[in-house]
Amino acid sequence: FNEFELYNEPLLSYKKGSKERQEIESNLKKTSSKVEDIPIVIGDQEFRTNDVRYQVMPHNHSHKLAKFYYADSTLIQKAIKTACEAQRKWDRTSLSERVRIWLRAADLMAKEYRQDLNAATMLGQSKTVIQAEIDSAAELIDFIRMNAYFLKENSKYQPISENIKITKNSTRFRGIDGFIAAVSPFNFTAIGGNLSYTPALMGNSVLWKPSDTAILSNWTIFKIMREAGVPPGVVNFVPADGPVFGDTITSSPHLAGINFTGSVPTFNRLWRQVGDNIDKYINFPRLVGECGGKNYHFVHPSAHAKTVVNATVRSAFEYCGQKCSACSRMYVPESLWPEIQNGLIDETNKLKIGDVQDFTSFTSAVIDNKAYERITSYIDHAKSSSDLKIIAGGTYSDKVGYFVNPTIVVTTNPLNKIMREEIFGPVLTIYVYPDKDLKKAMDLVNNSTKFALTGAVFAQDEKFLSEALDEFKMSAGNFYVNDKSTGSVVGQQPFGGGRLSGTNDKAGGPHYVLKWTSMQAIKETF
Ligand code: GLU
Repeated sequence: FNEFELYNEPLLSYKKGSKERQEIESNLKKTSSKVEDIPIVIGDQEFRTNDVRYQVMPHNHSHKLAKFYYADSTLIQKAIKTACEAQRKWDRTSLSERVRIWLRAADLMAKEYRQDLNAATMLGQSKTVIQAEIDSAAELIDFIRMNAYFLKENSKYQPISENIKITKNSTRFRGIDGFIAAVSPFNFTAIGGNLSYTPALMGNSVLWKPSDTAILSNWTIFKIMREAGVPPGVVNFVPADGPVFGDTITSSPHLAGINFTGSVPTFNRLWRQVGDNIDKYINFPRLVGECGGKNYHFVHPSAHAKTVVNATVRSAFEYCGQKCSACSRMYVPESLWPEIQNGLIDETNKLKIGDVQDFTSFTSAVIDNKAYERITSYIDHAKSSSDLKIIAGGTYSDKVGYFVNPTIVVTTNPLNKIMREEIFGPVLTIYVYPDKDLKKAMDLVNNSTKFALTGAVFAQDEKFLSEALDEFKMSAGNFYVNDKSTGSVVGQQPFGGGRLSGTNDKAGGPHYVLKWTSMQAIKETF
């Protein structure tokens, strides 16, 4: 297929008075003025069951945005059968044709439907326009274009043929016999696109279970896939209750893989069920998981305090700390603490929290009631513990939407659970260490949590930085030097963590596509 260039989709600005601002404003009006009816889609058929659900706006929870339906086990089984049938034909569709279809989808996302995707993400997942643009526009489009590019690059590597006149050796990518289950999260619309799309690109067929709280944006992606020409049955849209979906897919002999982003307990449960069913399967199912973190900013006495403050406020509080990569624990030396403390308090108190349709808001509400309860329980814990002190925020209200103000806690106990457990909300906890205990503080980074997703170190001292690269090697799958722990870009910082943060298959990297192929080696003798 034709050569295409590797580039990141440019971000649009949405400045007041700009064409993009007008477009998104009118799209927000359109999207919020109706309740979208979202069916289950299996092959070319739509289904609506009696198990009706609604997606509401997190920042205004009395406002319904979408109505959808849970598939029961029988429908999920039907989707499995449909997917397995579609897979054979799809896998025989040429690579170039598959790539062509997906590149058309990327173009539709970049142009015709960009503001539909952004509006659905803003209203349904309470993202500001900037956060939506980097997710449901740029990152989504990048995943689609770049994985097609990486597929093409990877297919260039062919085995040695010593004498081509006698023997030709080659390899080719095949899909995996069966179906892939994609289970996607609410926090990035683009992840839903990637988890379902990449296995499909590689010749597999997919059951996509979107998150209930991202259903409208995920449905918008699904509709674009259909319009671009992805054949019926290749990607099936199957909203369902998590355990029902998990039980049904893991008990099918045709399970070929699970592409998952979500919590450790859920991934463990799926993994355990795969183990229990292992004798049934016609493949060893591939398990790819991205499962959360307890990401750190570590500050060395040589750091530039202003850089630390700016990076930390953005990492901890953009999108209410609901990026998997968000900073939620921080280590600051006593010598820099006065300056950093003042900076963090000032900057945090200036943040405007509000409706996403008010374009001056910095963040909005957290995703749902469950998240609100969990996050505020950590804030209450901070209020009642003698070794914790709140120095900014600490207030919340769920009257209109699930609002939690960005909160900074200081602890004298670096092993308090607030420093070890994932909160997934706008709560940052800081441990101030004596400068002389630098080594001890570094040990805490490595050993006080089970996660290893992202981390950042701030220092000007070059010698320390090279030590830190060694010392912190295992503490993060994505490691940043003098920059915030969030904001990985497809094709620039392949994303994923080790330890209990996941299988580290690096979404947005060149090898991710290889996870979804079962390669065939061919020797032809003439
Ligand atoms: N890629 C995102 C970032 O670096 C995080 C992805 C996630 O939340 O899973 O900010």
